Amino acid sequence: LVRLRQRLAGSQGTLGRGLLALLSRERLDEDTWEDIEDTLLTADIGVAPTQELVERLRTRLRVEGSADPRAVLREELLALVDPTMDRALQVSGEGDEPGVVLVVGVNGAGKTTTVGKIARILVAEDRSVVLGAADTFRAAAVEQLGTWGERVGVETVKGEEGADPASVAFRAVEEGRRAGVDTVIVDTAGRLQNKQGLMDELGKVKRVVEKQAPVTEVLLVLDATTGQNGMIQARVFSDAVDVTGIVLTKLDGSAKGGIVVAVQRELGVPVKLVGLGEGADDLAPFDAGAFVDALLG
Ligand code: GDP
Repeated sequence: LVRLRQRLAGSQGTLGRGLLALLSRERLDEDTWEDIEDTLLTADIGVAPTQELVERLRTRLRVEGSADPRAVLREELLALVDPTMDRALQVSGEGDEPGVVLVVGVNGAGKTTTVGKIARILVAEDRSVVLGAADTFRAAAVEQLGTWGERVGVETVKGEEGADPASVAFRAVEEGRRAGVDTVIVDTAGRLQNKQGLMDELGKVKRVVEKQAPVTEVLLVLDATTGQNGMIQARVFSDAVDVTGIVLTKLDGSAKGGIVVAVQRELGVPVKLVGLGEGADDLAPFDAGAFVDALLG
């Protein structure tokens, strides 16, 4: 965790350092506030949260003085990230039925890698897992997930290229029930066709799965480096299926951690996990306090 935190700090700290330098200026004139706004927008925090934050900072620094801008900034950033959201992964089913985690998102976001990493975390917690490789539009994705399964030591139910994703998801949950595992994690197809197509496909996967076991999480995997484009994708997916949590990947390669705030606001669901590298252990629960500390550098 310390290593992950350091990595996060390395990529994110510039935002906080920039803001602190601005807030520590002797005179906080209009130009300075504009610079602060630009800094926040550049970090992908989004327009509305940026305006809110600047308003709060202006008021507080006027009333309280700027003796400790770091403490004020920390409090206000933390409020934006919302430390009260429930970020625990729901992975347990009911009775003998496994919990089913559906993982959705566009190709390249890091979906398959994330499924493997989550399986690894669950196995390390002594939970039993079956994987479903329902991204049948890409044979490579099915193979890749199979490799993760072998690496983590769990079974992967695969579909032939071009097979119906819902039928693969069905078989994976069936196998999970047969084997009596705790959790089935299903990697879904990530081609972003039109909204209706996506809705039909993910809707079908979910319906078919729910006939056998409860869907306890629908995790949307988003690439933190894609900025506004990623936000548009996020909206399309959350319109297509009820997303319960966000996994923000590639935060290690992005100085734009503000996307955490933007996407939570947009979708109204918490960031539950963050990807901080390509390695098997580079996935961590999202911790609002640690994140803000990393932002502040
Ligand atoms: P999918 O198409 O959404 O299933 O994406 P993949 O899981 O195949 O990942 C696409 C690429 O992103 C791969 O090269 C992964 O190693 C890489 N990747 C995934 N998550 C992360 C992350 O958190 N950080 C970094 N740096 N790379 C990642």
